[in-house]
Amino acid sequence: MSNKRALIIVDVQNDFCPGGTLAVTDGDQVVDPINRLVASGKFDVVVATQDWHPSDHGSFASVAGEDVGTLFKLNGLDQVAWPDHCVQGSQGAALRDDLNLDKVNMIVRKGLDSEVDSYSAFFDNGKRNATGLEGYLRDLDVVEVFVTGLATDYCVRFTAEDSEWCGFNTFVVKDATRGVNLNPGDADAALEALAEEGVVITTTDEILNS
Ligand SMILES: [Zn+2]
Repeated sequence: MSNKRALIIVDVQNDFCPGGTLAVTDGDQVVDPINRLVASGKFDVVVATQDWHPSDHGSFASVAGEDVGTLFKLNGLDQVAWPDHCVQGSQGAALRDDLNLDKVNMIVRKGLDSEVDSYSAFFDNGKRNATGLEGYLRDLDVVEVFVTGLATDYCVRFTAEDSEWCGFNTFVVKDATRGVNLNPGDADAALEALAEEGVVITTTDEILNS
């Protein structure tokens, strides 16, 4: 296959699913379409990401002394104050146990630096450090990147934008994502912005029937 395809499964972790500390509405509903995509054999590379924070991470409202959901500056960058979530080694940081990990080639852990948040699977929010994902995909001659997971308006959006910025042909699988929607409509607005930036919005059925 010349046009190699990667599937990126963003942050399908317990804390982002119902019952978690930063639960996304219906976050667990992404597991079924993602498992169908993984099983389809249509991807040459499968990458899963994990938000993986030290317990004193600067994005945590409890650490920043901010109310949850407020916007503040973390080392000069816009930052939403989040509830404590995805603390390294915790059950909340674990990937959902109903997610099919059999074909996962690489797990990217991000958000390890307390001083900066990292929504994207490629770079931290200040684009100061890379995770190594770009080089990994290039070495494997990946041309197309399909982004799924949580959440549409944050880590999925930033991952897709950076993928596009890196020059990969980038797709977001809409039904395999769910949004935080801190403000109503945020997830839909994120998809619209991505489409304007050249990211293709697609669906699981479209991919499986192609
Ligand atoms: Zn986080």
